[in-house]
Order: sequence, then C-alpha cells, then structure tokens
Amino acid sequence: MQHTPLTTILLFERAEKYHRNKTIATASAHGVGRINYAEWAHRTRRLAGALGGLGLSDDARVATFAWNTQRHLELYFAAPNTGRVLHTLNVRLFPDQLTYIVNHAEDEVIFVDRSLLGVLLPLLPTFSTVKHLVVIDDDPNSMSQPKLPGGLEVHDYEALIDAAQPVEFFVKDENRAASMCYTSGTTGNPKGVVYSHRSTFLNTMSALTANSLGVCESDTVMPVVPMFHANSWGMAHAAVAAGANLVLPGRDLSGRALADLIVGERVTLTGGVPTIWSAVLPELRDRDTRPLRAILCGGSAVPKSLSESYRIQTGRPLLHAWGMTETSPLAAVCTPSVADEARSEEEKADLRTTVGPILFSLRNRIVDLETATELDWDGVSSGELQVSGPWVASSYYGDEDNRETITKDGWLRTGDVATIDQDGRIRLVDRTKDLIKSGGEWVSSVDVENELVAHPLIKEAAVIGVSHPKWSERPLACVVLEPGATLTKAEILEFLGSRLTKIQLPDDVVFIDEVPKTSVGKFSKKILRERFAGYVLP
Ligand code: ADP
Repeated sequence: MQHTPLTTILLFERAEKYHRNKTIATASAHGVGRINYAEWAHRTRRLAGALGGLGLSDDARVATFAWNTQRHLELYFAAPNTGRVLHTLNVRLFPDQLTYIVNHAEDEVIFVDRSLLGVLLPLLPTFSTVKHLVVIDDDPNSMSQPKLPGGLEVHDYEALIDAAQPVEFFVKDENRAASMCYTSGTTGNPKGVVYSHRSTFLNTMSALTANSLGVCESDTVMPVVPMFHANSWGMAHAAVAAGANLVLPGRDLSGRALADLIVGERVTLTGGVPTIWSAVLPELRDRDTRPLRAILCGGSAVPKSLSESYRIQTGRPLLHAWGMTETSPLAAVCTPSVADEARSEEEKADLRTTVGPILFSLRNRIVDLETATELDWDGVSSGELQVSGPWVASSYYGDEDNRETITKDGWLRTGDVATIDQDGRIRLVDRTKDLIKSGGEWVSSVDVENELVAHPLIKEAAVIGVSHPKWSERPLACVVLEPGATLTKAEILEFLGSRLTKIQLPDDVVFIDEVPKTSVGKFSKKILRERFAGYVLP
C-alpha cells in the first residue's frame, strides 16, 4: 500500500475541495457572521504565508489566546499545515500559570482576540520568547489603543492576511508535532501534551465514526467547549474533515446566547461541560430543538438528573463522553447499543451514566489502587483506569520523568477511578484525589453529589473529604441552593437517607454561594479542600 502521511492537511483539503459552500458561522456582539469553506481555506493559506513572513522558526510554537471563532479555526490549520505547532492558551488560567506555559513552550508569536487583550497585556513583559503579537479584531469597541511594551512587534490580523500570498502546504512526517495543549491543572501544575499530525488525524477519524460522535456532512456542529481546551474535544477538526457546517459561539457562553444559536442555526451536534448544559436547558424550554441529534457532555461528572431533564424536555438525553487532554481528548462515548433498546427507561438512564466502552483502537484496563494488579470487568470492582493507543500521550512536553503518569508497560495512568462491566462499559467512580477514605473503605464523592443534585431545590453540590479522628476522612457536602430556596441540613440528610448507604451519608452539610470552578468550568475541589481544611465535623 502507498504510504500517505496522515496529516491535518488531509482534513483541511477535504473541506477546501469538496465542501466549498458549507458555512462557518461565528457569533459576536454584532450578530452572526458567515463565511464558506472555500473563502476560509483561501484565508488560511494566506495566513500561513503570513506566518512565513514573520520570520518564525520552522517548528515555531504559534500561540492563540482566543475564543471559538472562524479566525481561530484558520490558525488551527495554518500553523500545523506549515509544520509549525499550534499552541492554544487557556484564556482563563491564572496569570502565573500563563507565564509558565508560554515560557515553557517557548512561544514565538501570540494571536490574541482584541476582547482578551486586557488579560494578556500585563503579562507580556513576563514572556521571554514571544517576538510578535497579532491582534484579532473580534470586537472593535474594546481596547482600541492598547499600550504595548517595547521589543514586541504588533500586527493586525487582517492586515497580515491582506498583505500575504497563499501558500502550498507540505508536511512529510506524520509524527511531526501539530499542536499542543497544557492540562488545565485541576490537580497540579499544567503539563504540556503534544499532538502529532497522525494522532490528530486518527482522533478525527474516530470522531467521524457512528459509535463515537458520528460527525457527517449533514451536521451543523457547535463546539461550546473551548478551542483552547483539548482541541474542543475534536469537534472542530471533525466538522472540517466531514464538511459539516460549523457554528462558533465566540465569547458569549451564557445559556441564553447558546440556546439562541442552537435554535437559530439549527445545530445538530454540540458539546460542552455539565455546567454549560445546566444553564442552557431552561433557555430551550418551548423552543424548536428538533434538528438537535446529540448534546455531548463530559469533562466532569454528568449528573443523571441533568441528562434525564434533557431527555424529558428535548427528547434527547445528554451524550456522555470521557476523555482527557492526554487522550486528544476523545476516548469513550456512550452511544446506545442494540441490546439496550429493550431495556426500561430507568435502566437506560442508568446505563447513560456510564461513559460507554473505550473507542475503537484504544485499549483500557483497571488496576487495584493499592496493589496495582489488574481487576476484573465485572461492573463492581473499581480501580484506576489506564488507557493506551495511537492518540494517547506517551509523555509530557519537556518532562523526561514520566513515572507518575506512564506505567512501565506503557499505559497512561488517568488518575480516574472506574469500574468496567462485561460489555466494556466504563463507569467513572471518582478521581483518585477526590475519593474519600472512610475507615478503610472508599466513598465516591461523585455518587453523593449525584444524589444531592437530584433534589429540586439544590442547584450545585460538591462533596469533599475532611479529616476525622476515627474514620480518617468523612464526607462534607458543600451545597448551593436554587435562588430563593430554603432547605435545612436535616431536610437534606433526610432526602439522602433513602438514597445512600450509611457510609456514604455526609457527616455535615455547609451552604455556599457557588462551587469554585477551574478555568474550564469544572468543580475545583482543590480550592474547596483548602477552604475547609481543618473543618471540625459535628
Ligand atoms: P484537568 O486535569 O485539567 O481537568 P482535563 O481537562 O484533561 O484536565 O480533564 C480530564 C479529566 O476530566 C479526566 O481525567 C476526568 O477526571 C474528568 N472527566 C472527563 N470526562 C468526564 C466524565 N464524563 N465524567 C467524569 N469526569 C470526567
């Protein structure tokens, strides 16, 4: 057989040649702007020419600090298709983490949305390798005359494209780096994951398969999960490869704005974290969501009650998926199997709380947390989930010592605890760091949270372990009530009484205004644990 390097160029050319008239819509403060793939591809080739004109190195890290927009998508291909490395920066990271990441990756240029300039400006003097700043005019009203530090060449995105010639793309080695993303550091310092052309290509192919996202030409795909976070879960690449219409929501990620786009643009496939879908659901009430075929949800524990509310209101439960920055990120998607069709609604809802089997061409196993021996797939035994495969990271960028993350026999330690049933369905129990060790037994904080948010007056709940003189740790429930609601600790414990075992029942309930979130909208239990360190249980 012929050896064709599997590169992002193949994905790009598909949209350029075969789907010229399909559209990319981008929402902004001024309404929804549209461009077709032919125009987009031409602009991308000129942008690639402009990268050459900036005098960047052949393998330069090209950073982006941007929302989900058509221009960000141009960068998604202009950088890797010329052999350079797209480095998406998380716009919500803490300043010192951004400085660390930019310097660690040795970024040479940063493309920044004008609406985000205010966040980046104070940090510019701390970046040691950045020579160029390119401002993307996503909102002409913000920061029109920014004061920039000396020693940095500043360019206007559109002016760069206007002045450049389109270029031919060529990448010979499919193992060449295409892009990189640092983990958001929920549990530690950010670590860089480098995606190759090959891994990106294969992850995209996987997203096109029916038992994954099944992205196809007739779709209108709206990635809500940021393009700066793990490739927006593969949805942007997959839409381009399939020639699906794309809807990019820009910076307004409010429930109302997203619901308007879903309805107005007739979105068929969208994806985001559970907090996003909680805010969108009430805004979709009594509106036409018939085109919507799947709402992908993952990134953190997906409450069964949220998925069921979607099923009841829109006819579509959430499509549960699991992955990590280290797994490109799509690794498991819970599409229903034929055998499930005969099951009761309750059984189906329960199965949807699993993340389904690992995707085709990846492998997985679970190992005992203490002895590291491999456990049975009996749906009961729980241990650390480990995965391997062609789009799973084998190391972190610039970090020789992988012992904590990669096992001796080459499996990625995910830090997630899971069970696997006989059909290979993975049920996430918790993160190893969030499990509560109560008298020699493990309590899943996620299980307790799920039951808490099933109460109609509870908006959010996070459960953490706090130290206990006798049991080592016991669960503390941190609860956010719906606006205006009143509920006592006793009422909450009584509600939980019939739903949880005694060992799972929280020892105490505290009421908080909001669960602290990480930069990508996940619950930050690290912050909660710090806040309640030394909390004395009754
Ligand atoms: P971070 O460690 O910064 O949160 P990622 O964004 O890569 O990094 O998150 C990966 C983690 O998110 C997984 O290891 C897992 O703990 C969690 N996660 C992803 N999908 C799910 C899901 N469907 N249910 C529960 N947790 C999930």
